[in-house]
Amino acid sequence: MTTASTEQVSDFYCQEALSGNTPITVVEETDEVLAFEHTRPSYPVHIVVVPKLHTPSLEDLGEGGEELLMKVMRVVRSVAAKVREEHGACCIVTNLGEYQDSKHQHWHVLFRGELPLGRV
Ligand SMILES: [Zn+2]
Repeated sequence: MTTASTEQVSDFYCQEALSGNTPITVVEETDEVLAFEHTRPSYPVHIVVVPKLHTPSLEDLGEGGEELLMKVMRVVRSVAAKVREEHGACCIVTNLGEYQDSKHQHWHVLFRGELPLGRV
């Protein structure tokens, strides 16, 4: 039931996280950018960074353009640096097209878990 209702949401960030409909734990915030803990994390550390202004994707930057993207990147860098300091590794991902479940630009900042012996 929970899964079905979540799948109908095409912009989780405007509809749920930014609107306050779904409670979030804020990690870092500026006037234009919000970083918070993923509500259904897939990794030991899973933080999401979004512009507060609706922006479709990295490909379609919308009204905010590259200027807003740089502000988003500033927060991504800050959050990623903290994750890297604390855990020794960090991965940053954004998705496009079929991979992008929620059509609002968002960046996943991850610590995926213990490092394997070999490096990817
Ligand atoms: Zn949106």
